[in-house]
Amino acid sequence: MSKERLEGVESRHVHALWRRLAEELSGILDAHGICAAAAHEIARFAQSRAVVGIREPFNSYYNVWLCQPDGAMEQMRWEGDRASFEPLLAHGRAILQDKLELPANELINSELWRHSRQLLLFSPLPTPTKRSQITPPGALCLLDPAPDCPVTIDNIEELANFLTVYLDRALLRQRSDQQDVEFGIVSDISYSITSTLNLEDIFQQVADATRRTLNAESISIGLIEPASGEIIFVDTLMGPHFHDLPPIRLRPGQGIAGWVAENGQPLIVNDVYKDQRFYAQVDRQSGFQTHSILCVPLQAEQRVIGILEAINKQNGQFNENDLNLLQAISGPLAVAIENASLHSDVLAEKRRIETIFASMSEGMLTLNKEERITAINDSLLTLLRQEGEELFGRPASEVIRTRPNTFDKFLKQVFQARDDYPQLACDLLQGKEEFVPVLISGASVQDEEGKTSEAILVFSDLRQVREVERMRDDFFNNIIHELRTPLATILMYARLLREGKAEGDQAKADRFLGVIERESDRLQRMVRQMLQLAKLEAREIQRSSEPVSLKNILEQMLPPLADQATEKGLTFSQRIPTELPQVFGNEETLYMIFKNLIENAIKFTPAGAVSVEATVANNQFQFRVKDDGIGIPEQGIPNLFKRFYRTQTAVERGIAGTGLGLYMVKEGIEKHGGDIEVTSSEGKGSTFTVRLPAISE
Ligand code: ADP
Repeated sequence: MSKERLEGVESRHVHALWRRLAEELSGILDAHGICAAAAHEIARFAQSRAVVGIREPFNSYYNVWLCQPDGAMEQMRWEGDRASFEPLLAHGRAILQDKLELPANELINSELWRHSRQLLLFSPLPTPTKRSQITPPGALCLLDPAPDCPVTIDNIEELANFLTVYLDRALLRQRSDQQDVEFGIVSDISYSITSTLNLEDIFQQVADATRRTLNAESISIGLIEPASGEIIFVDTLMGPHFHDLPPIRLRPGQGIAGWVAENGQPLIVNDVYKDQRFYAQVDRQSGFQTHSILCVPLQAEQRVIGILEAINKQNGQFNENDLNLLQAISGPLAVAIENASLHSDVLAEKRRIETIFASMSEGMLTLNKEERITAINDSLLTLLRQEGEELFGRPASEVIRTRPNTFDKFLKQVFQARDDYPQLACDLLQGKEEFVPVLISGASVQDEEGKTSEAILVFSDLRQVREVERMRDDFFNNIIHELRTPLATILMYARLLREGKAEGDQAKADRFLGVIERESDRLQRMVRQMLQLAKLEAREIQRSSEPVSLKNILEQMLPPLADQATEKGLTFSQRIPTELPQVFGNEETLYMIFKNLIENAIKFTPAGAVSVEATVANNQFQFRVKDDGIGIPEQGIPNLFKRFYRTQTAVERGIAGTGLGLYMVKEGIEKHGGDIEVTSSEGKGSTFTVRLPAISE
């Protein structure tokens, strides 16, 4: 047979293969199917073992199909370095390689050469001349082709090109299908996370969907804590390994997550233990085994607010495609997190305002622009003596009735006000006919367009203020009055002395001086009491509380008071147990309490007995002062502990006093958590009983 004829036969043969392949491959739409079918057809046609391998996109291995001439097919996965395709691909064209010409180290551990006895007919896939953007690198080989094999070094590249067309078509199709699927997943996730404002739900939905799609072992979300810059991982997403551990925190820049957050760039690390950035401490603590991490930043308006991380790709490695998908999810996730936290800020703010509204002692009312009631707090309801439910929606001027009848005018003023807060001092109708003095302050609320949409009214009950004012006035009047009397007396006697009214009469001079001394004492006592009172009211006791020994106080205080009583001709008796507990409080105040009571008993008992008794029971200290004195009229008892109150009988009898003592006694006792009780009958005597909680032994 001439050479030309031979070529003609061969080419017919080869065209037959072409036709066969075209028929087979045009119906196959996935790349692996193309490879398998091609290997099958070529092996059958060439009566030689055929190998078709393509590299798995984004991975280091080749998927390989090896077909025997009889059609028996084997599918394998060859790691890049063991496949031995690379040195052959480096030639850049088809090659017929003799095994024996290769150095031994290229043959050792080689999958390809393990299957070939001597000769290998190889073509790159796709061929470098017809560079394909789609088909990944691969190889088409015939193992030990017979000398008359119709596939030759001259036509194998054409065969490879032919195959590439079908591979391109299948891969393109696959890619667009994949993109459709991914687009679907991303939009599903976006939709579902934007339809809730609950962060936990958002995290769970993203994690579940992302884990399934990426085929990862777990998904983590870490959020940056604004104050510290640390990343705190959402612990509800962490698996069982982390249940007993505190939330995982990474310092700024620490670990792969820290790097991603700091650099605002995504990262794929397929072998974390080979990456210096990996922070292995977490694995050590939890017992979880991390192999691979795909991590993307969560960015909201240019700011990195956290990271989204897929951990341990279940088969194979994380690739660019996974990264694109995770990035596509991270955008809507960041927005959803921002929205949820804004929403929870708004909710917190709303709760805060509601709490203020409800708990304010001032009455509050909000009105819509029709001047109807939209909210009313309990304080105002109490002030109005009304029930809340029935007031909602009613016109304010129907509910708020004032004297003078100026509320309507005031409301108009409030709705027109911009930067000022109108006020109205008036009497407010309480219930049916009573009136209460109030101060109403109003403010208008503007919407985004600057139009008044609401008004807020605050009602201050002036009764207390008036009462305080009255008490303050009384207090000053009393002080002035009380100070004036002794001062006038001192002044008068001093003048008498200076004018020589006691000259030559030592006894008289002594009497004058005695009066001056006594009145000065009284002045001094009053001033001291007032200072004590001021201190008491400044709540100094609470600030300087400590265990105080009652025994010490009584031991110091009683002897001079006993002397004072006997000097006055009274019988003084005391029953104090030897053991007395301690009381938590302020020594000076406790001293003042007991001393005042005993001094009063002595002072208001012209003749008879004064007795002091202390007892302890059930961790309670009881102190009782009893006298046979002038007693207290029944109607005086409710006022006894008020400032400056003095009974009529005491004043009439000219017994000196300020009316401050018992007020301070009561204040002091209350600040020590105790109470005071008084029983008295006019003309017969009084008993004051103090009870204080003792410190248990
Ligand atoms: P002061 O003793 O300086 O007048 P207090 O506040 O100690 O002021 O007492 C207020 C008033 O209570 C006294 O002025 C007196 O009228 C009445 N009072 C207090 N203790 C007794 C008592 N033991 N017997 C009768 N009246 C008393």
